[in-house]
Amino acid sequence: MTALNDTLLVVDDNEANRDLLSRRLQRRGFDVVTAIDGSHALELLAARDFALVLLDIEMPRLSGLEVLRVIRQSRSASELPIIMVTARQESADVVEALNGGANDYVTKPVDLPVALARINAQLARRRAEAALRESEERYALALRGANDGLWDWNLRTDEIFFSDRWKQMLGLAHHVVAGIPDEWFQRVHSDDVDRLRTDVTAHLDGRTPHFESEHRVLHADGTYRWMLARGVAVRDVDGRAHRMAGSLTDITEGKVSDPLTGLPNRVLFLDRLGQSMERAKRHGCVSAVLFVDLDRFKLVNDSLGHEAGDRFLAAIASRLERSVRTVDTVARVNSEVTVARLGGDEFTILLENVRHASDAVRVAERVQECLKRPFELDGRHLFTSASIGIATSESGYSDPQDLLRDADTAMYRAKALGKARCEVFDVRMREAAITRLAVETDLRRAIEQNEFELHYQPIISLTTGRLAGFEALARWRHPQRGLVSPVDFIGIAEETGLIVPLGTWVLTRACTQMSEWCQAHPSAAGLTIHVNLSARQFVHPDLVTDIAGILQATGLPASALNLEITESAVIENPDSVIGVLDALKALGLRISIDDFGTGHSSLSYLHRFPIDGLKIDRSFVSAMTLEQSSIIRAIVALAQALRLEVIAEGIETVDQLSRLSELGSDGGQGYLFAAALTSLDAEEVLTHSQDTRIKSWIPASPEVA
Ligand code: C2E
Ligand code: CA
Ligand code: CA
Repeated sequence: MTALNDTLLVVDDNEANRDLLSRRLQRRGFDVVTAIDGSHALELLAARDFALVLLDIEMPRLSGLEVLRVIRQSRSASELPIIMVTARQESADVVEALNGGANDYVTKPVDLPVALARINAQLARRRAEAALRESEERYALALRGANDGLWDWNLRTDEIFFSDRWKQMLGLAHHVVAGIPDEWFQRVHSDDVDRLRTDVTAHLDGRTPHFESEHRVLHADGTYRWMLARGVAVRDVDGRAHRMAGSLTDITEGKVSDPLTGLPNRVLFLDRLGQSMERAKRHGCVSAVLFVDLDRFKLVNDSLGHEAGDRFLAAIASRLERSVRTVDTVARVNSEVTVARLGGDEFTILLENVRHASDAVRVAERVQECLKRPFELDGRHLFTSASIGIATSESGYSDPQDLLRDADTAMYRAKALGKARCEVFDVRMREAAITRLAVETDLRRAIEQNEFELHYQPIISLTTGRLAGFEALARWRHPQRGLVSPVDFIGIAEETGLIVPLGTWVLTRACTQMSEWCQAHPSAAGLTIHVNLSARQFVHPDLVTDIAGILQATGLPASALNLEITESAVIENPDSVIGVLDALKALGLRISIDDFGTGHSSLSYLHRFPIDGLKIDRSFVSAMTLEQSSIIRAIVALAQALRLEVIAEGIETVDQLSRLSELGSDGGQGYLFAAALTSLDAEEVLTHSQDTRIKSWIPASPEVA
């Protein structure tokens, strides 16, 4: 509500008249300012606002009529009423004045009751018009958002109008809300109030075209609601804001819940975590956060599409919720539980009031257990598992973000240790996380600057004792660290997706090298180059065309290329994998399952896949107990039945070699023959391969990576 200024301006060159009129008006309660002539009046009017002008017509130099004309150029009759004061005989002037925009007139000598009646009539009309204008503006605002609360703030008086809807949104009865800004500001969350004030000031100072601010406001029920306030200032001719009006919209729904699963989102989770940490501090109990990340979920999206992936996530979310609801009995935890989705395939669980981290571990185990059962989606069974990181408030955090970050770090650790497990955070992990980040940054640079090279480990035929091919193994020629082993960077390259460009480089380099050897050495004909392919590359849509292009460009016969993929990459999603495998096979190349026996031991699946060979994992070869031997025997028997080639990895001793030959392994690879060699050394081996037999392969010393 704009406060209307009630000061009158009396303009008269005759001092006696001027004083008499002004004193009589003052006695009736008006504020009066006087001007001694026309130009004085215009000066005063430029400097400040008046409610009404009493303007003498007959004045020297600038007459009343001329003053009137100047005023009306900038201010209308409703903005500034002007009553002409005139001698009775000057009726022609009065007509002219009324035509020129005067609102009314009084005659001299002034009859006070008449003058007062006319003055009051003008002031009342002016107020009514101002109120109408205001309510029209308010009405326009109301139309803009029927669901929004409205507010209208008079900055001069610091009064504020709150609409009924505004009050209702905060659960407040109409009469309990006073018309002052504190009704709003004092209800704003302490974390948000400074930002709100900054947003207001920025707009009032003219630094933003609109006022807009998101903040939490306390509802009468004790909860905080997220509100979006929007508004715009009304400014006077000098650009000074004297009023600001706008709307308030409840955006809690969008702010705090994840639309896909209906679970709380990150904002709400952090909010609850913060409250829970405070309670934990006061009551000496413990809050725990479980950071749940689904293993290899990206493969689901890549193979089934995002739409199915979303439905899978929603199903997982509701199972997670159900699993923690039964948590009290399972884990004997007396706690409040919040399950939230942070985004993607990341979920968090807040356990309040636990005794110790071990309680949280029990809950994590329970969660993992319940995710084990297959999910049914579009008539097929899908499996998932989760890696879970746990952090508790015991370490005395003050910021919920920090606790969440450490739970995240512990989750990474769980993934690194083989997925589908849980880890509790400790400080060493934080250090490891920092190192990991440094490696990632370094790795990006290394890919740009091409710091990688390939080494080649000979693969020997155990039936002929001759060289059968090489496995290409990546090395990072680091400017400071020297030669870095793939064990230290392939994992991070996979997590970050950097494996895709790196893997393409490896394929190109390996095929180019093999093709060059074939041209230079007749003995290279018939050898195979093995290249490792990570799961991430395997589901990449461009894989098949990329490989076809590389074979074409390098001129390497497809039959000389053997791709090694891990068991887990294959059984992750049998149906879509078969399509990729078929397409690769159609190019004419060969495919082996790497690290066979370490993962899901999918012997029963093997016959479904169009593969050519198995590589028995080093762990079976190195610890060849009786049990391991019988496993190898079974694998070899099965492979033979399926006509698959078997290559044993990590042969280090003559004893291991002879046992594997007996068991029927077709090929072997290991330090007994040679470690991975530089391309020059590998070429040396190649040139002598015609006349070399197994015994002479014993190396001087294993490669130190
Ligand atoms: P992998 O595919 O199982 O490769 C065999 C690893 O065993 C190689 O380690 C090799 O040097 C090592 N090795 C060979 N013979 C012996 C032995 O007698 N005793 C022992 N103890 N080890 C032996 P490397 O080169 O460090 O590679 C480690 C892993 O890194 C590889 O395991 C593979 O999974 C991955 N990797 C290497 N290069 C690439 C690549 O270009 N792409 C992808 N995706 N992964 C790669
Ligand atoms: Ca391999
Ligand atoms: Ca392997």
